[in-house]
Amino acid sequence: MYKLSLAHLYPKLLNLHGSTGNVTTILKRCEWRNITVDITDINEGEKFNPQLFDICFIGSGQDLQQEIAAKELNQQKHAFWDAAESNTVFLGICGGYQLLGEYYQSHSKDIEGIGLLNTYTIAGEKRFTGNVTAKSEFINPQEIVGFENHSGLTYIKEGTTHLATTIIGKGNNGEDKTEGARKRNVFGTYLHGPILPKNPHFTDYLIELALEKKYDKKVKLEPLNDDIEINTHKNLVGKKY
Ligand code: GLN
Repeated sequence: MYKLSLAHLYPKLLNLHGSTGNVTTILKRCEWRNITVDITDINEGEKFNPQLFDICFIGSGQDLQQEIAAKELNQQKHAFWDAAESNTVFLGICGGYQLLGEYYQSHSKDIEGIGLLNTYTIAGEKRFTGNVTAKSEFINPQEIVGFENHSGLTYIKEGTTHLATTIIGKGNNGEDKTEGARKRNVFGTYLHGPILPKNPHFTDYLIELALEKKYDKKVKLEPLNDDIEINTHKNLVGKKY
């Protein structure tokens, strides 16, 4: 029987917009296939051991919480780098996504990220809120849906690719039609929803990457009865409101 270990990074600080629902979704979609998932919360002051985890999740938060979490992350930046180097799957949402990048220049200060993604974020004048539909070449079907709520504008540099191309919504910066970012198994996105229950195919893709990392072979997950999830997803594709 397969077993995965998930680290939930700073859940007390970064937990906006139902971020934790993503962790529950990974857990349930694994459990339904008899895959055990051990979940460990890493809170302020707690050590992250890169050898222990197959998936790291970091949720969304506002500037003040991001500032505290950034200090925590940077204190053990090398441990996170080691995890990413060994293909641990990372998923960062919104504020957490910004911290996986190089820096977030808020209106009042520069917040240092841990640079797992070659991205940087500058606070914008407007807040982008609304439904998003984007297409990602990594998953099948390609459409990802979610809800964005951010004022940070994120730009991708060489070495990192975008997660998806926006069809509806602003995505990373409202200019270049990119949404989210990916480098190896490190993923970041602005999409709430939470994103994973709204996009079961994306969840399964991440689980498969984590199983491949842990067991050093490709694992094809058995399909689940996803009628409700797929209908919800289909209904949201292309919807502005
Ligand atoms: N402070 C960030 C922004 O507004 C993140 C917001 C969030 O996580 N919802 O860009």
